[in-house]
Amino acid sequence: MAQLPILQFEEKIIETVEKNQVVVIIGETGSGKSTQLSQMLHRRGYTKSGIIGVTQPRRVAAVSVARRVAEELGVQLGEEVGYAIRFEDRTSERTRIKYLTDGVLLRESLSDPELGQYSVIILDEAHERSLNTDILMGLMKRLIRMRSSNLKVLITSATLDGDKVSKFFFDCPLLTVPGKLYPVEILYSNERPKSYLESCLKTAIDIHTKEPEGDVLIFMTGQDDIEKLVSKLEEKVYNLEEGSCMDAVVLPLHGSLPPELQVRVFSRPPPNCRRFIAATNIAETSLTVDGVVYVIDSGYVKQRQYNPSTGMYSLDVVQISKVQANQRAGRAGRTRPGKCYRLYTSMDYQEDLLDVTVPEIQRSSLAGSVLYLKSLDLPDIDILRFDFLDPPTSESLEDALKQLYLIDAIDENGSITKIGQTMAELPLEPSLSRTLIEANEYGCISHALTVAAMLSAETTLLPGRRKNADKKRKHRPVDPPDGSGWGDHIQLLQIFELWDQENYDVNWCKDRDLQVRGMLFVKDVRKQLCQIMQKIAKGSLDVWTSRNQKESRAEYWNLRKALCVGYANQLAERMIHHNGYRTLSFKPQVVQVHPSSVMKPDEDGKFADYVVYHELITTSRPFMRNVCAVQVEWVMPILNKVKNLNVNKLSGGSADLTSEPMEGNVKDSLKKEDGGTTPTLDGHDNKIQAARERFLARKGKK
Ligand code: ADP
Ligand code: MG
Repeated sequence: MAQLPILQFEEKIIETVEKNQVVVIIGETGSGKSTQLSQMLHRRGYTKSGIIGVTQPRRVAAVSVARRVAEELGVQLGEEVGYAIRFEDRTSERTRIKYLTDGVLLRESLSDPELGQYSVIILDEAHERSLNTDILMGLMKRLIRMRSSNLKVLITSATLDGDKVSKFFFDCPLLTVPGKLYPVEILYSNERPKSYLESCLKTAIDIHTKEPEGDVLIFMTGQDDIEKLVSKLEEKVYNLEEGSCMDAVVLPLHGSLPPELQVRVFSRPPPNCRRFIAATNIAETSLTVDGVVYVIDSGYVKQRQYNPSTGMYSLDVVQISKVQANQRAGRAGRTRPGKCYRLYTSMDYQEDLLDVTVPEIQRSSLAGSVLYLKSLDLPDIDILRFDFLDPPTSESLEDALKQLYLIDAIDENGSITKIGQTMAELPLEPSLSRTLIEANEYGCISHALTVAAMLSAETTLLPGRRKNADKKRKHRPVDPPDGSGWGDHIQLLQIFELWDQENYDVNWCKDRDLQVRGMLFVKDVRKQLCQIMQKIAKGSLDVWTSRNQKESRAEYWNLRKALCVGYANQLAERMIHHNGYRTLSFKPQVVQVHPSSVMKPDEDGKFADYVVYHELITTSRPFMRNVCAVQVEWVMPILNKVKNLNVNKLSGGSADLTSEPMEGNVKDSLKKEDGGTTPTLDGHDNKIQAARERFLARKGKK
């Protein structure tokens, strides 16, 4: 294999790292940042005084890169080289190079704010601008100011506006690794295709029949599309006249693919065989697939967005930004000149695509992050003054504070409570951590642990909620339990309990069409959560670990009560003259119970008066997903709390801010804090701001 570009800069990189505490490294995707930097520093002795930690925003990337580095160093994964992602720690005493998700590093800094075990932290893939990496950047900045030891921090990125990051880190040095990128010819469509799936197919077959050898990377939006494309493309290729062109294999690549299928894209194809790789945007910058000469860019990406004023999520297929389009095109020119087929017009590119991607911090719920920052209890950290590369909107901060207040994680002055401290120790969303704590009080912690674990499964477990499940099925599966009329949380609990009674028999899952891998994961997660709770409760937990669990309605009662406390901000009231519910948010929404729910109306066609929900999601309509019926008497205290809520007070943390209204002072206070040195709206900020506004405007129009 040709030498990776970054290796030619080893001397320069090491020299700069020796002399500086923070270094920003910009290098084209595939130049070797993720796999080589850690090894370089290891060779130069940086693992003698501590561990080299490399963060990745994506779980898949952490696993895949760690595996690669272990292989290159000829060691067993989990020994000298390991990885840690939520609920899966493959490191040992001997680990010197550790790949971890940014979320895991954030959690680690909770128990050890100085990150004492590390000699180097590499914040990798910073261009992804994930929420956790953005927060880590702020924390690192603070740590550098304070930590007297010689922790080195490297920030690496493919496309990030390096000047801005360097400025953020006290004008630290910025190294650019010139990528060896061959020219990529860009071919635009004449018009937007009616179906981009069909258009992808046609383009793929055109390439296969007309173009010389070279793999084809196809950017799709998600698993469903990818699966469809893979099967259709396989069929088309199969039907081509024999001998008319070379062989072909079609491979999917997305985050929910089992690991053993993911690695297939890294193995060499047989000779005289073209590979088609249908990928989500994980192939944009996080994973580099060698051999790609042609790229087909649908122009879309699936993005989860959160609207803080309604508390509503949506999973939207949105247009990519220009930066993303250029990254995608770049994948075609790594080994020789390539071609990129954009399934949109050059006019679309010029006028419709946003310049840059809106950072996640400006489109997600911040409750978990705010709780986390509050729990650090650092005298100089005030949420509103926290030093963000791009600050979140005041609306989303308000939303987070309100949620935290309603679930007792912060008091009316915005200070973190004991409950909040405990919640922050759990690797769960605030609503679920709160439920666990409450359940412990009511003696139903076992149930709550199960529900939290079931809801934390990365994959969808139940057949009814999984698309395409019906087609492949040979026999009708056994019906799952029905939640006793109380809803989905109870159903999830019942499923696990039944499985537990069956000795965790995988055939039991198969008969019910439950995802075996997902269920085994749940079992493991439950065990881990249980251990964490044991530690928190100092061993005074009353947790069952195996069978002999009797179904008991009384315990469902307590569990529902605990859920009501945990989901205090996710509460909805049935509307009397309307077929739906009204939510409790800044702007109450009319929503329906999602059709996949086990919650059904009673004989009179009536739903429960009050329900809590796990999330609100807009698909064709606004829906509540995972719903649990709650009693009116549990709801009243929450409604009272809402009435007395004063969001201005909550934002506190420092006295002088509590009296000011929150609106619009996030940026101002940032400026004040830094004595005016924080860059004001520079070009990049302007771009992000503009991108966000256009994005919101477009959403409003829909
Ligand atoms: P960057 O982080 O700069 O984008 P990487 O370090 O991820 O680059 O990749 C450098 C090279 O290593 C690429 O050619 C890529 O194909 C290869 N590589 C990375 N991960 C794996 C893996 N799991 N298996 C095989 N090759 C890999
Ligand atoms: Mg990388």
